[in-house]
Formats: sequence, C-alpha cells, structure tokens
Amino acid sequence: MAEKRDYYEVLGVQKNANADEIKKAYRKAAIQYHPDKNPGDKEAEEKFKEAAEAYDVLSNPDKRARYDQFGHAGMGGAAGGGAGGFGGFGGGFSMEDIFSQFGDIFGGHFGGGFRSSSGGGRRVNRGSDIRVKVKLTLSEIATGVTKKLKINKTVACDKCGGTGAKDASSYSTCSTCGGSGYAMRVENTFFGRVQTQGVCPTCGGTGKVVTAPCDRCKGEGTVRGQEVVEIAIPAGVGEGMALTVTGKGNAARHGGVNGDLQVLIEEIPDPELIRDGNDLIHNLNITVTTALLGGTVEVPTVDGRAKIKIAPGTHAGKVLRLGGKGLPDVNGYGRGDELVVVDITVPAKLNAEEKRLVEQLAQQPAFQKAESVKNQNIFERMKSFFR
Ligand SMILES: [Zn+2]
Ligand SMILES: [Zn+2]
Repeated sequence: MAEKRDYYEVLGVQKNANADEIKKAYRKAAIQYHPDKNPGDKEAEEKFKEAAEAYDVLSNPDKRARYDQFGHAGMGGAAGGGAGGFGGFGGGFSMEDIFSQFGDIFGGHFGGGFRSSSGGGRRVNRGSDIRVKVKLTLSEIATGVTKKLKINKTVACDKCGGTGAKDASSYSTCSTCGGSGYAMRVENTFFGRVQTQGVCPTCGGTGKVVTAPCDRCKGEGTVRGQEVVEIAIPAGVGEGMALTVTGKGNAARHGGVNGDLQVLIEEIPDPELIRDGNDLIHNLNITVTTALLGGTVEVPTVDGRAKIKIAPGTHAGKVLRLGGKGLPDVNGYGRGDELVVVDITVPAKLNAEEKRLVEQLAQQPAFQKAESVKNQNIFERMKSFFR
C-alpha cells in the first residue's frame, strides 16, 4: 500500500475537530475536487476519493477511535488480505461508493447526478452490511486464527441468477431511458444550472425492465440463505476492533453489489492472564518455603504452561518479566511480555508441629528483623500495570 496521508491532514482539521467541523471540511474538499467541476482531471479525482475516505473514517466514531489508536494500519490494512480478504480501503473506494455513502453531504445537489468518468460505472443497488461478533481466546489472539462463520443473509436467487426475471425473454427495454440506463436531468447546483446525466430511475441503470418476475424470489433477485465465510483474523487483535470482509454482506436486489461483512472482535477473559495492551499479567502465588529457598514453578502463558525459576529470597510483589511471552502487536511491531507478579501464600493455620518448627526458625538470625526491600516500590509499579 502506498504511503497514505493522515486523514486529519487530508481534511485540514485538528485532531480534536468535532463532527460538524469534519463534515464542513469534507464538504469543502468534495466541492473543490468534485469530478463535475474537474472533468478528466485524475489528480482531482484522487483528491476527491482521498477526502471521501478520510471522511468515512473520521465521521464514524468507532472508526475514528480505531484510527486514532492504530493509524492506517488499524483500518484493516494489517490483515493483509487473508482468506476473507479484508479490504479496508485497499481494494479501492469507488466513485459509486462515495456517492451512495455520502450523497447526503451534498444536500441532494450531486447525489444521483454523477456520471462516472472512469467508464462503465453505472450505479447499482448495494446490499446492506452485516455485523457479526466473533469471540476469541487469548491463545487465538496470540497466533491469529481462521474462523468459519455461518452467516444468515440474503443471497442471489439461484433460479433467476439474481436478475429477478422469470427467464431470458422476460425483459423489455426500459422506456424511460431507451435502454441506455442513463437519464438526463437539469439541476441547480453550486456551480449554477447544470444538466447532468444520472442513473435512470425506472430501471436503476440496467436499461431493461422485467416484464415477468421470477416465481421463487418474486422478482427481487434475492432470497434468504446462508453462506459459510472463512475469515482470517490476524494475531494481536483486541476487544472492540472490527474487520471488514468486502462483498460478504447481504446480496442486493436485481443483481447489484453485495454489502460487506463487519466482524466485531470480542475477547473471552482469561482466568489466569490479564491483558494490558500487548503485555499479559499473571498473578503468581508461591509458598513461603519457595520464597525462602527458591525453586521452579509453573506459570500459564498463551502458548501453554511454562516453568520458571524463583530465586531464593524472593519477596512478595516482585515482578518477573517473561520477554516476548505477551501478545504480538496487531500492526506487526514486535510482541509484548508476560509479567509475573509474585505473591506469597502465608498459611492461615499451623498445626502444633509446624508451629514448633516456625518458632524455632524465628530464633535464627535471618528472621530477626523486618526490612524494607531495596529498590522496590510495589504500589508505584502496580499503578502502572493496572492503569
Ligand atoms: Zn429469482
Ligand atoms: Zn431506464
């Protein structure tokens, strides 16, 4: 992917701009670079698309939050086109998308009146998006995982192939546009009175009308169905992130363009590991004797149990760092650590024999004095872990 400009920079707004300022800035850019005003100007067209993309993200609180946190990589690019092919915007943000999604911003002036300069760009019906949730364990997040999801959705009618027509002869040429799919109309725009060529409202741009509807889908072109969608979820994703699988949403009426599938990530809390960004925290309890004499104990990690050494004289609150045992960064910037925070289990009750032994121990020189542990400030450190 080519180097992308910062979305705030594209729209020329501050990072803390409110929704209204963003909308105004986009409107300004859209008018400036509108293809009707810059016919055949590829650079203007690119700027127009760039602004639309920036607006798509910054006008949506979820996407904006993700962008603020992860930058462009958080917008789906990091997934690198796995099985489901997360597009982000990589797959191209077409002129049709811009007008179908943001037509409202033009206050009706441009919405339907755009004639694609790239050719062949008839505006077509678009199916709606579907949102699904996927629950992932920490170990799935650690490695990345491919999930097969059975999605209930509208699919193209298999009898008519999505056209909605009974058979090949159930069509006639659209009388409104004479089969061209376009209709002229005169509008008052920001640039004065403009005659624009728009999609024919009667046939929706197909140039044909159905005279006898398909009996399975009643002419809609779609029926309820199911599709199994395979989604490659990259390692390091987190709660609330969303991945977009282009074209796997609901099918559109009359053979239009499919909507998208939005996959929302949910994290299943782990009973033993607490996530802190890319780091993991495990609270480990050791016995008093292990604290005194040292030893080997087992700790959970995202790759299974691991054995770690406890040094003799380990005090409560000591933090052992298992480098690289955390979660991989979703944008590929290395891997976090696992922090093992030691606590010591002090027996609540001793039997007579144990009591006698501990009393004997208490007489020994090493047990005569309680001392602050050097170089430590448990509470300060805790603060940063659990912020
Ligand atoms: Zn049908
Ligand atoms: Zn027509």
